[in-house]
Amino acid sequence: MNIEQATKQLERLRKEASTCTGTGKVASYIPELAKEDPCQLGVSICMPDGTILSAGEVNKPFTLQSISKIFSLIVALCQNGHQYVFERVGKEPTGDPFNSIIKLETIKPHKPLNPMINAGAIAVAGMIQGKNVQERLECLLDMLRKMTGNPNIHVNEAVYCSEKKTADRNRALAWFLKDSGVLTGDVEETLDLYFQHCSIEVTATEVARLGMVLAADGVDVCTGERVFPAEIARICKTFMVTCGMYNASGEFAIDVGIPAKSGVAGGIMATVPQRMGIGVFGPALDEKGNSVAGVKLLELLSKEWNLGIF
Ligand code: GLU
Repeated sequence: MNIEQATKQLERLRKEASTCTGTGKVASYIPELAKEDPCQLGVSICMPDGTILSAGEVNKPFTLQSISKIFSLIVALCQNGHQYVFERVGKEPTGDPFNSIIKLETIKPHKPLNPMINAGAIAVAGMIQGKNVQERLECLLDMLRKMTGNPNIHVNEAVYCSEKKTADRNRALAWFLKDSGVLTGDVEETLDLYFQHCSIEVTATEVARLGMVLAADGVDVCTGERVFPAEIARICKTFMVTCGMYNASGEFAIDVGIPAKSGVAGGIMATVPQRMGIGVFGPALDEKGNSVAGVKLLELLSKEWNLGIF
């Protein structure tokens, strides 16, 4: 199939999936995200030779939100190693909503079950080293700038401030982690880093490039440069399968079968090992927090192009 034919197919599937945007709602618990137009749907695909296929709203900036949890985990693993990280955060899916607190108390040892739920990602943010929040954030921004080829990747200040102002639940999680000894540094600084990395702004095309680096086991196909070790890419892709789509990860694995991570701004990063990175933006969410049309689109795409990994 040539690029033109593939793009036509992509646009057809995008149109079909966009009919369900009306069944979802934009996230409103972060007030700034509630301003987004729910009808949007964009998809970009990055191929192993760096070619990009696109349809719909692919240049519209949105914030990474939970997708950033993959990249904070990569930085934490690169800086601290496997043993240190997984002594403080687990490897198991939860079946609970992404911001749930309950298992922090009921499961022993008191560490978050995985790095894709908020509690786990806050614990991971606590492991990112640097002499202040800005320097810790720069580790992540540098990596994302390299992987997207965009030196201007930055934090969306309005979303960051909106999230910071309304983060009572994330604060509760963080202080609970402090009490359990999982977080040891300055709690407010770690929360600040977490809010900022969730508020990093990208486009669907940039997310497709990020997904392709994971698909290529940590190598940026556009530059040939290794960004992180293949072993870390393997860990991330496994988490994407088991916990990437919140407490709908099992359903997504069966219906779509592609490692993926979603965020409450409506983004989904999917990665088909060795074959492609996919970036989706569709801000209308289902009740679990996944882009309703984005999930539909990935399901259609997976069936039509036989992308499932199982
Ligand atoms: N910043 C969001 C929060 O902490 C991330 C959640 C998400 O995208 O799932 O609630």
